Amino acid sequence: MSTPRKPLPTPDGVTAPYWESVKAHAMQVQHCNACGQTIFYPRGLCPNCFSSDLAWQPVSGKGKLHAFTIVHRHPNPAFAADAPYVVALVELDEGVRLMSNLIGVEADPEHVKVGMPVEVVYEDVTEAVTLPKFRPA
Ligand code: ZN
Repeated sequence: MSTPRKPLPTPDGVTAPYWESVKAHAMQVQHCNACGQTIFYPRGLCPNCFSSDLAWQPVSGKGKLHAFTIVHRHPNPAFAADAPYVVALVELDEGVRLMSNLIGVEADPEHVKVGMPVEVVYEDVTEAVTLPKFRPA
């Protein structure tokens, strides 16, 4: 029996530019031209002022660990093979937060700390899909 595969994102009309930017290893997030808000996750309207005048802008890929948990067991074998691993809520320097994994800490996950500086790394999962992960900066 083969190990099940992890689910992958299914880009749509709103999220496709984000996934394309990640695939290009140059993450972009939305910016509202009406009120200046930086926006994540991708949306059709600004959550601050409801304007549809949104533009994609590159981000630094740098940020800090806002919150995290260490997963020691997972019922899905596709994820269980990675345990222990860190599920991270990262706050980018641009002010938005995204859920990802903190990698490069598997040998010593107990030393992961809220507020630690992190930076994006791009994991090419398939030819079509790249996922943004983070490592200590
Ligand atoms: Zn706005």
